[in-house]
Amino acid sequence: MKPTLKRIAILGSTGSIGQQTLDIVRANTDKLQVEVLTAQNNADLLIEQALAFEPNAVVVGEEKYAYVKEALQKHDIKVYTGADALCQVVQMETVDMVLAAIVGFAGLRSTIAAIEAGKSIALANKETLVVAGELVTSLAKEKGVNIYPVDSEHSAIFQCLAGEFHNKIEKIYLTASGGPFRGKDSKFLSTVTKADALKHPNWSMGAKITIDSATMMNKGLEIIEAGWLFGLKPEQIDVIIHPQSIIHSLVQFQDGSLKAQMGLPDMKLPIQYALFYPQRVASSFKRFDFAAYPSLTFEKADTATFPSISLAYEAMRKGGNMPCILNAANEIAVSSFLNDEIGFIEIPKLVEHCMNKVSHITKPTLQQYIDSDAEARKVAQSLTKKKIHS
Ligand code: NAD
Ligand code: MG
Repeated sequence: MKPTLKRIAILGSTGSIGQQTLDIVRANTDKLQVEVLTAQNNADLLIEQALAFEPNAVVVGEEKYAYVKEALQKHDIKVYTGADALCQVVQMETVDMVLAAIVGFAGLRSTIAAIEAGKSIALANKETLVVAGELVTSLAKEKGVNIYPVDSEHSAIFQCLAGEFHNKIEKIYLTASGGPFRGKDSKFLSTVTKADALKHPNWSMGAKITIDSATMMNKGLEIIEAGWLFGLKPEQIDVIIHPQSIIHSLVQFQDGSLKAQMGLPDMKLPIQYALFYPQRVASSFKRFDFAAYPSLTFEKADTATFPSISLAYEAMRKGGNMPCILNAANEIAVSSFLNDEIGFIEIPKLVEHCMNKVSHITKPTLQQYIDSDAEARKVAQSLTKKKIHS
């Protein structure tokens, strides 16, 4: 091994972020080495990735374990399964950095395990900070671990803060494309289908975050994520609709100056920035063409039609396990919508019901977060059967 190689564990390597991370590795084999790859169901892609990148270990969901083990048996690649294995592989001595790109609450434990072992984190899994931001950020502080944001808005804020760490942030603006239903009213939303909601205008992403973008819950989760990453209060975080997705977010300093980070909507850039920070590594990503974007426009978010943003602010203000409840209810609501069990406009209603039903804990332990997640899922599941109409 060359001493300059950064050895990475990619959690969720078969997903949208995971695959784009491997594209970056392919272009930087002199700087990056893959130590761990993990996936839940997509065994064939995981095997293909393992054969191409020859990691030390892979972890796969239980149903696909025997299949992957057999396929890789002639290779020097360890194959594991289960949530505990995920927590163990990230702690291996040969791992320098963990790219956390599992979707949802399922990514929480392995990220905590990586922080406990002192590994640098490139964080795509925003749900980790939404669910347990206080616990995760204080553990990272205690262990001297840096969490580098991969989410494009948070990467933008982080890039704007380079050289400004001692300057006070007045507020930040998180930009949002507005998703496929920007400008539509509630009546329209009551008729939309799964196929409509899965068509994002600017980004190609996994199914869960694509639906979150259509309901605007993605921006809600990002408000909470930004609060933890940058130590901001809810009133210091604003959302602005910017349909072209060229300005990825902005910081307003106490002198009133605004700094923005711009570029084409391509997740490879924020992923690469997180992997190599503080260095900017040369890339062949497509460059911005001003002539193709003669105008960049901005609108206020329509929080009456898209209540998810208000629900996220409410959860953030209440704190404790409330964002965890919001997240769990949203995960159930999104998967129920994708299974044709509830309609699009029922998603935020279901989240709101769960936030009112599950008991609030002001300073939860990790176990209490796990219990709140389970309880909120149970309540949400029972509600999907009853159908929410209020
Ligand atoms: P995806 O659905 O495309 O991929 C998810 C990955 O996680 C897959 O490899 C899957 O096998 C794995 N996974 C799913 N459930 C799992 C479980 N229970 N246990 C272990 N592994 C599991 O998702 P994505 O779009 O790549 O998003 C990943 C994370 O990154 C999400 O938290 C998302 O919010 C965040 N993110 C994604 C984008 C994007 O452009 N896709 C942008 C910003 C942030
Ligand atoms: Mg984002």
